[in-house]
Amino acid sequence: MKRTAHSSEARRSEPSAVKATPGPVRSLPQRTCVACRTARPKRELVRVVRSPAGELSVDLRGKASGRGAYLDPDPGCLERGLAEGALARALEIDIDGMTADRLRVELAAAAKERRPSA
Ligand SMILES: [Zn+2]
Repeated sequence: MKRTAHSSEARRSEPSAVKATPGPVRSLPQRTCVACRTARPKRELVRVVRSPAGELSVDLRGKASGRGAYLDPDPGCLERGLAEGALARALEIDIDGMTADRLRVELAAAAKERRPSA
């Protein structure tokens, strides 16, 4: 008299329906970093704007008027954008050393503001 009991197969009730959360990420406005060409939600990028007077600055609110270009809040991207000329092309202006320095400072400040505690 043999008894083979194969009954451990009955426990297959996985927690069903763990759906990927739909989330509120609908159609966030996306912009592309002019240096590395990565598209990101607009608010994750910093906007560099050329004022009508030809002054460049980092536009923290994203509302300054003038021609704008988007960059990652990353010094590497700023350097690349400056070195490869992508930023100057996007803004249709020559960027001199002084302006570049100011942008470095402003971008670093903007990056810090975005990540309060790292
Ligand atoms: Zn980038």
